[in-house]
Amino acid sequence: MSTIKQTQPPQGESFRDHISTVDEKSGKRIWVYPKKPKGRFYRWRTWLSWVLLGFLFLAPFIKVNGHPLLLFNIIERKFILFGVQFLPQDFHLFVFAALTAIVFLILFTVIYGRIFCGWVCPQTIFMEMVFRKIEYLIEGDAKAQKRLAKAPWTAEKIFKKTLKIGIFFLIAVLIANVFLSYIIGVDQVLKIASEPISQHVGGFIAMLLFSFAFFGVFAYMREQVCIAICPYGRLQGVMINQDTVVIAYDFVRGEPRGKLRKGQTDSDTQKQGDCIDCKLCVQVCPTGIDIRNGTQLECINCTACIDACDAVMDKIGKPRGLIRYDSYNGIVRGEKKILTPRVIAYTVVLGLLILGNILLLSNRSQVETLLLRAQGQLYQHVDENYISNLYTYEVINKTEKAMPVTFQLAEGDRKKMSGVRFRIVGDKQPVAEPGKAVKGVLFIDIPADQLQSRKTVLHIEVLSNGKIVDRTKTTFLGPIK
Ligand code: SF4
Ligand code: SF4
Repeated sequence: MSTIKQTQPPQGESFRDHISTVDEKSGKRIWVYPKKPKGRFYRWRTWLSWVLLGFLFLAPFIKVNGHPLLLFNIIERKFILFGVQFLPQDFHLFVFAALTAIVFLILFTVIYGRIFCGWVCPQTIFMEMVFRKIEYLIEGDAKAQKRLAKAPWTAEKIFKKTLKIGIFFLIAVLIANVFLSYIIGVDQVLKIASEPISQHVGGFIAMLLFSFAFFGVFAYMREQVCIAICPYGRLQGVMINQDTVVIAYDFVRGEPRGKLRKGQTDSDTQKQGDCIDCKLCVQVCPTGIDIRNGTQLECINCTACIDACDAVMDKIGKPRGLIRYDSYNGIVRGEKKILTPRVIAYTVVLGLLILGNILLLSNRSQVETLLLRAQGQLYQHVDENYISNLYTYEVINKTEKAMPVTFQLAEGDRKKMSGVRFRIVGDKQPVAEPGKAVKGVLFIDIPADQLQSRKTVLHIEVLSNGKIVDRTKTTFLGPIK
């Protein structure tokens, strides 16, 4: 390994003045033909992508308690997470979860950079693990693709391009349907797909629009989505710092780079870094950048350059990891440790945030009751010695079963007061249907001699089929004592 040390990437910062996929003179897009990656990270990413894709495609079909596993119906404000339905009344939980997600994303990115983009992001998974693989199958590796692009429109070219576009579009339709399944539910999507178009014009148009949008993203937009559109990608500059673990080229070890030549002496090798300037790391990059210039906005942390360089290092008998997961400071100081106290501390905070959300969700009440004294009403004398107050009630049922509801005084209050009556206005017992609320009015009557003051706090239990399902409190007004 070279003993020559440097603390800056070799090419200065001028590469940051332009996007690698745009021609500086013409301003036109430079189409990226990445070489097919090969290696352990690519293999691990492929396995993970199959698991994630399997989940993505199967989840809409999985039902829990008759509900889809996941549903994000923003149109009807209906959200289901792992079979548990969230109603508009649970909005505070969503706000907390959303805030946690933002804090999580920032902290996670500060520590681990864009790991999400490379390993989990649906855009990368579909692009690199589905569409790109199909492209390699039909058109061959990078060189063959370039040749085909330049070739005249022969029968072979027409066949390959039509086949590719046809398959791409079919997959885009599939993705659009899956995407819609998460919004309106798989049953509705199957209806749109199987019943006459005239019955689902809106749904059919949405399906078509999403299909074309996904086709456009994966067939044409590609890496531009990550570089120019994705807000997470655009925010990288403010989230990562010199301690962030990113995919980095070890310029201390690699520079000065130079080709390996036959007949090189030991003293030549001593002057040279480990990078043999083979440019394989550049050729495999799906965003068309040279990671040796330093961390760049375009890098989606896909690991393709790590695999490419590791293979080169194996061939020339040098240690792997010239390009690796590391931070700028890690490279400059030569520290190999990724799990620093700071990283561990941030990870603990992330863990606590997740735990807080899990606790909040698991303690979420299944029934929510609102019992309010009717506005503008004081009290009435009824049945000679009773004082009566009028209330409005609302019982929200977040369970899967219908709930007939009744009210009673809580045990503590029962010990202090006797003869308290609840009179629900109406002929029938109120029933809160699953996922819905039942509203109404009721009177609470209390014998006058039981009241100790003008205003009494009442603790109320809500019962369904004899079981206490919720507790609430309200106030009761009586005459001045
Ligand atoms: S693959 Fe490795 S050796 Fe080849 S140019 Fe890139 S960093 Fe240098
Ligand atoms: S620089 Fe490496 S990790 Fe970043 S996008 Fe290119 S190949 Fe992927």
